[in-house]
Amino acid sequence: MANILEIVELGNPVLRTKAKEVKDIPDPKVQQLIDDLIFTASHASGVGISAPQVGQSLRIFIISSYPNDRYPEAPEMIPTPVINPQIISYSEGLVKGWEGCLSIPGIRAPVLRHRSVKVKYFDREGNELEAMFEDFVARIFQHEFDHIEGIVFLDRLEDNSEVITEKEYFKLFNENENKDE
Ligand code: ZN
Repeated sequence: MANILEIVELGNPVLRTKAKEVKDIPDPKVQQLIDDLIFTASHASGVGISAPQVGQSLRIFIISSYPNDRYPEAPEMIPTPVINPQIISYSEGLVKGWEGCLSIPGIRAPVLRHRSVKVKYFDREGNELEAMFEDFVARIFQHEFDHIEGIVFLDRLEDNSEVITEKEYFKLFNENENKDE
């Protein structure tokens, strides 16, 4: 059974700590944590969540992109557990896109990220996989990878004056939607 875990917020030192490699992927505690992370992300309408965000300093995160009330444009994918990841290469150039974070509630800001990343990671069965992620999913990967390095998206901002509240973000988003119609 999966549980909803408490999400720690900015100020908790675990978010500023480089997380440790997972040594024993089949360990029932690790498998339970993965189930709980998937359940917690879905409950919070998150498109990704990392173990440090639930107070566990381990190199595990979930990518769970799907269209939801926080990210209506997100592509649909099966929640994907990523364990002990490495970023092998980045696409050239950076693209700006809006990000928020379950550990920094109520805030959005545009963050520069690489458009695609080539990565290696272990799945929950312990298989080592290589994959290429692009666009929004590459953005989630880079955001979550930062979490296991002890970095939050606010650290990546070029200009603090671009930080806005989620309330204002949704006003902007709805205005843009109307313009498209
Ligand atoms: Zn985050």
